[in-house]
Amino acid sequence: MRVFKFGGASVNSVEAIRNMASIVSHYLDQPIVVVVSAMGKTTNLLERIVPGVPQSDEERRALISQSANYHLEIARQIFECDDNPTIQHLQEMFRQLEERSTMEPTSYNYDYDQVVSFGELISTTLIAGYLNSLSIDTKWVDVRNVIRTNENYREGIIDFETTRQQARQTIGSIIDAGVCKVVVTQGFIAGTAKGTTTTLGREGSDYSASVLSYCLDAESITIWKDVPGFLNADPKYFKDTIKIDKIPFNEAIELAYYGASIIHPKTVKPIQNKGIRLNIKSFMNPS
Ligand code: ASP
Ligand code: MG
Repeated sequence: MRVFKFGGASVNSVEAIRNMASIVSHYLDQPIVVVVSAMGKTTNLLERIVPGVPQSDEERRALISQSANYHLEIARQIFECDDNPTIQHLQEMFRQLEERSTMEPTSYNYDYDQVVSFGELISTTLIAGYLNSLSIDTKWVDVRNVIRTNENYREGIIDFETTRQQARQTIGSIIDAGVCKVVVTQGFIAGTAKGTTTTLGREGSDYSASVLSYCLDAESITIWKDVPGFLNADPKYFKDTIKIDKIPFNEAIELAYYGASIIHPKTVKPIQNKGIRLNIKSFMNPS
């Protein structure tokens, strides 16, 4: 079984989502667990509508409809129709988002996680629906029933033992039973024993993919990125970067620790512990 992670930039448009599906379709010789972030800059937008953030009701509703229009426009184009069960599901999620974001503020970190988590729930609903429409047997899994954290909202600490058990019971059993070829689930978000939603810290989806790889004994984990591979510097700042074809985990951690944005420092540890290979690949040039 492989784990693939697609970040916001790799699913931010109709073309990007088609490209993602094409990548997935080339790897169906083994089951794949696809971990997806919120589309484009959705998380930044959602941060602005958390209860308690100074914002007029009007502005709050405008932001929600901006996000709803963005997602629904992509959905209509990708499904080539105005209405289907996935589109209705997305509309319902935006209604729930509006309801949640207009609630009375309680504690900021708690409210943040309950609202911002919609980004990943929405993106994965759209993507799972799309893969199924292409006849790629796909199951949508709510990762909040899989990755268990404590109640440290906005930076949940993972309970690995419970997560491992839940990962095997849910995702593992679906895969073993051969029910589908692809499991689509959310990065970044998780759940507590009380059933509330937590998040793992901004840019936490790589970490989610790593945790699931660890718990499910994945053959490998591939993070699909907008760079050709693991570079020795950020190409946004340096022209003459060098691609590093292979790097030991310890050195990757060191680079991440000193600011290499290619990989989140927490991501490496779980897979290093099990010796699971981590691939960094370009979604723009998958071969
Ligand atoms: N969507 C979340 C964020 O933008 C998580 C992630 O992208 O990894 O921070
Ligand atoms: Mg993101």
